[in-house]
Amino acid sequence: MSEQAKEQTLAEKAPSSYECRACGYIYEPSKGDSKSQIEAGTVFGELPSGWRCPICNAQKSAFVDIGARNAPSGFQENLTYGFGVNVLTPAQKNLLIFGGLVLGFLFFISLYGLH
Ligand SMILES: [Zn+2]
Repeated sequence: MSEQAKEQTLAEKAPSSYECRACGYIYEPSKGDSKSQIEAGTVFGELPSGWRCPICNAQKSAFVDIGARNAPSGFQENLTYGFGVNVLTPAQKNLLIFGGLVLGFLFFISLYGLH
């Protein structure tokens, strides 16, 4: 019984979505990519290496992890701040900064949903 409850909890954890830095397309694992016949539920890491952005044809390396969009708590990124920031490489710092920009962009886009 307790094992079953544990599995359900894990299943509820949403995998990360990835955003294309070139065009802003967001790959959501819960939706997959019908154009490339990627089944819903396929996490980004399991996409074939030859997979390209369906909008602008960018490679997988052009995508950044923006976290789980539908997770109950969307502020997991904040945990990263203040946690060993001084030992981060410049590339990692850029990732943090860009992640903040992406979050801001998502909030901005969400404003349109209010109308
Ligand atoms: Zn793209």
